[in-house]
Amino acid sequence: MARSYDFLIAGGGIIGSSIAMALSESGAKGIAVVDCDLSGKWGSSERNAGGVRATWATPVNIALSKASIDYYEQVAAEAGFQQKGYLWLYDAAAWPQVLERIDLWNRSAGSVILLTPSEIAERFPFFDRLEGVRGAVFSPKDGLINPNLLKAHYRGRALADAVDWIDHRIIEAVDMDAGRIRAVHLRAAASEKAVEAFLTAQALPTEEKVERIEVKTFINSAGAWAPQLARLYGKTLPSVPIRRQVAVLHCRAVDLSPYGMMVDTSGLYFHHEAGNLLAGYAVPAEPPGYHFDYEGADFFMNELWPRLAARSRFFERLKLIGGWAGLYSVSPDYSAIIGPVAGIQNVYEAHSFSGHGVMQSYAVGRALAEYILHGAYESIDLSMLSGERFEYGQYLSETMLI
Ligand SMILES: Cc1cc2nc3c(=O)[nH]c(=O)nc-3n(C[C@H](O)[C@H](O)[C@H](O)COP(=O)(O)OP(=O)(O)OC[C@H]3O[C@@H](n4cnc5c(N)ncnc54)[C@H](O)[C@@H]3O)c2cc1C
Repeated sequence: MARSYDFLIAGGGIIGSSIAMALSESGAKGIAVVDCDLSGKWGSSERNAGGVRATWATPVNIALSKASIDYYEQVAAEAGFQQKGYLWLYDAAAWPQVLERIDLWNRSAGSVILLTPSEIAERFPFFDRLEGVRGAVFSPKDGLINPNLLKAHYRGRALADAVDWIDHRIIEAVDMDAGRIRAVHLRAAASEKAVEAFLTAQALPTEEKVERIEVKTFINSAGAWAPQLARLYGKTLPSVPIRRQVAVLHCRAVDLSPYGMMVDTSGLYFHHEAGNLLAGYAVPAEPPGYHFDYEGADFFMNELWPRLAARSRFFERLKLIGGWAGLYSVSPDYSAIIGPVAGIQNVYEAHSFSGHGVMQSYAVGRALAEYILHGAYESIDLSMLSGERFEYGQYLSETMLI
């Protein structure tokens, strides 16, 4: 007889894990989280920079981050949350927008502090080259989190008798009937090679076992692969996967451990990472696709080092230790797609986080669980993040991206 679940969460990254926790903590049972690789080797949740901030341009992104930060404060030790602040440098052209947003941030993101260049140099003395910097925003309640610990925390809190974690299974098809998903077909992806072939080249294993599972509610939290999954139930998503690279650099000249996340006027970001420096930069011309090549020395020499050395003499002698590439799932308005799927009665989605899924993950899980279980958002109204907004031209105006 086919297995059956009340809730099937497709994708067990940080978002799927948060949803599993929230559903089970709300009393739901019969939950399955299906992933072709629960360890998340290719998933974005294991390949990100761990930055956390509530300073966004749009109220809904502020609200999602702020509510999540309030939670991370409570579980800081377990989730590796370091509330050391988030510093963002601005040039003169971008400064007027900061002034426009300061009231919004102080009202809803937690208090933020504006710094002049000399105040930046006083608080962050390693910044000794501040040419072109008009000022900075410092948000002391933001900071850094350990995404792996946070994901483990969500999974650990998801009640064992309510959630089955189904690993090494690819969702390859769904059965639909009368506007609902009735069942999903899982194909085994037993080897690392099979997982890699699927997640990097969309190649399905050919000789592996297939299982059919009946479901009452289906949740697409498949990260950068959500568009492929959506095609199985007849939907075309507007989001695209885009490669983002980060590198770890040996930095002897200065100890960055007292500081949280820092963002340069150029968009380069960096922070202390286990005695080293982690830096990332979103190359604007990056083409969409499931690209995981890490360009190592070229990325360091062309994109990271010039920007870092331009800000501090302490960054003149950095040594590249390693790095990696992961995927942003980017929506047309750089904000997540969350909520029920129009035209299909039992399908919900939470994906397309456009580079900010970790920091918003707690509040997303809680709000979506409310919607699924009670038919309405209770903690935060996420209706403006519905996927339908693109059909109606109701784009959000989120611009604070790195
Ligand atoms: C370099 C980089 C830096 C970043 N920095 C930050 C940051 O500082 N702060 C922040 O908040 N966010 C950051 N992000 C973004 C953040 O990592 C993502 O928004 C977040 O991890 C998305 O989580 P997810 O659970 O949706 O996706 P994922 O973690 O990718 O999980 C999706 C899962 O779905 C599974 N899957 C997909 N298709 C199928 C299928 N058909 N069958 C079975 N399983 C399937 C995959 O195996 C995967 O495990 C960064 C991302 C990158 C790449």
